[in-house]
Amino acid sequence: MFIHLLAGSLVFFIFGKAFDLEITRTFLVAGAFWGIVPDPISYVLSWAVKFNKWAHTHRDNFSHSVFMPIIVLVLAIILDSKTAIAASIAMLTHPFLDLSGIGWGVKLFYPLSKKTYKMFYNGRILTVWNQEEVDAEAGKFGDDDWVKNIYFKPNIVGASEWLSLAGFLLLVAVH
Ligand SMILES: [Zn+2]
Repeated sequence: MFIHLLAGSLVFFIFGKAFDLEITRTFLVAGAFWGIVPDPISYVLSWAVKFNKWAHTHRDNFSHSVFMPIIVLVLAIILDSKTAIAASIAMLTHPFLDLSGIGWGVKLFYPLSKKTYKMFYNGRILTVWNQEEVDAEAGKFGDDDWVKNIYFKPNIVGASEWLSLAGFLLLVAVH
């Protein structure tokens, strides 16, 4: 979750440096917004906010598809806005981070393919699941207390999440 804020703001930071744009706090926060926006969009599209082991179902729609940032990019080309290209890239970091982060992966090519892609799971580099397999996996290995267990107990994923939040806040604070 927090890693999306850091990734989005970093994309804007690098983009700003590369194109000599003024890197302000608003600019960096805008980057963080584009990094995390697939999540609120997916909650709106699925109309299901679940903090139990079925939390992954929020990703089962267009919001986490690689085609979403492509739409933003097409709009960017029409509107001829440099920042919109950065927004598209920031947005694209989201499904790719969700490939290997918390949960069971993402439907990268929705709606063309409804397969769920998951990286680095059970010793395999890439796992491709259909919906029944994802649901079976979540039913068997899902954690109804994942918010507490990931964010409030010592573990690597939780630590990288809090470090990402700290990194994002620091990046904004120094600008
Ligand atoms: Zn997500």
